[in-house]
Amino acid sequence: MTFKDLGIHSAIVKALSENGIEEPTAIQSKSIPFLMQKGTDFIGQAQTGTGKTAAFGLPLLHAVNPKNPQPQALILSPTRELGQQIQKQLFRFTKYYHKVFCEAVYGGFPIDIQVNNLKRPTQILVATPGRLIDLVNRNAVDLSQIKTVVMDEADEMLSMGFKEDLNKILRLTPNKKATWLFSATFPTGIKEIIKKYMDKDAFRIE
Ligand code: AMP
Repeated sequence: MTFKDLGIHSAIVKALSENGIEEPTAIQSKSIPFLMQKGTDFIGQAQTGTGKTAAFGLPLLHAVNPKNPQPQALILSPTRELGQQIQKQLFRFTKYYHKVFCEAVYGGFPIDIQVNNLKRPTQILVATPGRLIDLVNRNAVDLSQIKTVVMDEADEMLSMGFKEDLNKILRLTPNKKATWLFSATFPTGIKEIIKKYMDKDAFRIE
C-alpha cells in the first residue's frame, strides 16, 4: 500500500517522500481511506509517534477548497507545542501543493499578531481551545465554514481543563460537520463528548 494508492495527490506524495515518509503507517492505512470520504465522524485510539498527524492532515488537505479563504478545517490541540508540530508537518506536506494554507494559534503568544495573521487566507486552522475562544470573541476568526473539526489528544485537552471550551467550540461550529476525535484513552469526559456531539455510527479504529 502506498500513499498514491490511498488517493493522495502526487504533489503531496513527492513532499512526503522528501521527508522520508514513503510507506503509510498502520493508523494511516486504516484511517486515510475512510477520512478521504467527506462528512463522516471518526474516533481513533492513537498515541503520539504513530503518524496520526498525517492520518488526519492528509485527508484535510484534500477536503478543503483552496478558493475559499476562510477556515474549513479546525484542528484542536491541547498545547502550543503540539499545535506548532501539526502546522509544521502540514507546511512540509504542502511544499509542492501551494494552494492550501494552515495557521496555528495558541495561548502565551501576542494575540494581536494572530489576529493579523488570520486576515490572510487560511483553509486549515490549528488552535488551542482557550485561545480560539478569545479570537472568536474578538471576531478575528470565522467558524461558519468549518466542515471538519479534529480533536487531537482529546484526553489531554480534558485533563488540562478545556472541557467547557471544547463544548463551546463544538456548538459554535456548524451543526453539519464531520468530527474526528483522536485520543490515547477514553475516560468518562471523552465518552460524554462522543455521545453529545458525534454520530452513533462513527467509524472507530485502534
Ligand atoms: P505523529 O505521530 O503524527 O506526531 O508523527 C510522528 C513522526 O513520524 C513525525 O515526525 C512524522 O513526520 C513521521 N511520520 C509520519 N508518518 C510517517 C510514515 N508513514 N513513515 C515515516 N515517518 C512518518
